[in-house]
Amino acid sequence: MTIEVPYSWPVALHPDVQLIPRSENVVDAVRDDHVARVLSVNSGLPAVLHRLMREQPLSSFLEANRAEGFLDAASADVLAQLGRGGALRRLAQPGFGAGELRDFEREIGALSRHETAEISRFQLFARVRSAHVVVIGAGLNGANVIQHLAASGVGNITVVDPASIERGQSGRHPWFGRGDVGRSKAERIVEHIAALTPYTRARAVVSSVDSEAGLEALLSDHPRIDALVYTCDRNLDFGVWAARQARARSFALLRVNRIVVGPLYRPEHGDACPGCIYPRLERGIRDLTTVNALGVTARDSTASLWSPELSAFGALAAQELIHCLAGVGRLDTVGQQVGPNPRGAHDVIKPFPRDVACPACGDSC
Ligand SMILES: [Zn+2]
Repeated sequence: MTIEVPYSWPVALHPDVQLIPRSENVVDAVRDDHVARVLSVNSGLPAVLHRLMREQPLSSFLEANRAEGFLDAASADVLAQLGRGGALRRLAQPGFGAGELRDFEREIGALSRHETAEISRFQLFARVRSAHVVVIGAGLNGANVIQHLAASGVGNITVVDPASIERGQSGRHPWFGRGDVGRSKAERIVEHIAALTPYTRARAVVSSVDSEAGLEALLSDHPRIDALVYTCDRNLDFGVWAARQARARSFALLRVNRIVVGPLYRPEHGDACPGCIYPRLERGIRDLTTVNALGVTARDSTASLWSPELSAFGALAAQELIHCLAGVGRLDTVGQQVGPNPRGAHDVIKPFPRDVACPACGDSC
């Protein structure tokens, strides 16, 4: 008997089941004289299967799954046979509706690789769903980050940008049409998010941030912030202001521009913050050759102004934030800056070490 377990099914095998791994993705589950072969693309399958579950009679398990639209007749037959062997149990209620579980099956699947006996994929995803991310800068870069955050299930996004849509931007920005010229970028993007997904509450703040006090005042309107992304990169001081706020209020901070994604600063982990570049600049060890070469490459290529490449930046930035918010998974932008590309790979462009003389996170702060 073989059953493929979709990621979003709130089910798992009984803890007393004996597991016999057949490969990275196939496990035979044996209880008494019943054997269930479980297949998954998830290589962390044994950990998933070992989770402790709330006991529930098979009939209510089947009924609940049927009521939530998870079961067709053929699957129900297989489950009934498995259940008679006492192999299947329903996971504790994850708190998500059936539609939400279906719509985010891939995202939940990605998190299921990090599931342990202590925390389920649903609890990990709940951290993402309840998170509030502030995105400062709603140009093409910011819009790509926002789109990927919303697609990943982030529950609350605040979009900050003082600018209006100008002629010429409608050709380069997939979300801005000619009829939008003169409208607020932040408000237009919030409308798009509302059209894309019912799961993200996005709010627009049409405001500029020209000082550290201004940033503090803007953020003080939000009692809870889990992460801040900034794509407004013209003012280098902004990184110092944002890092000080991140440290004071304990949220993650990620810098994204047209050349690199990173560094990701998690104050509680003592990561390098964007301000750590300052002492190095002052000591005159700036690698001008590299910086200029990267800038020229970015400006010379019109492809890099268009969405496919920047979409890769948005996807990487969102993935870093999702891993950070969920507290699991690999982080590629801690202590370094990376350049993503549309193939989904990315190169480390340069290490970004912490500096104890940093004006934002340094020892004298
Ligand atoms: Zn720093």
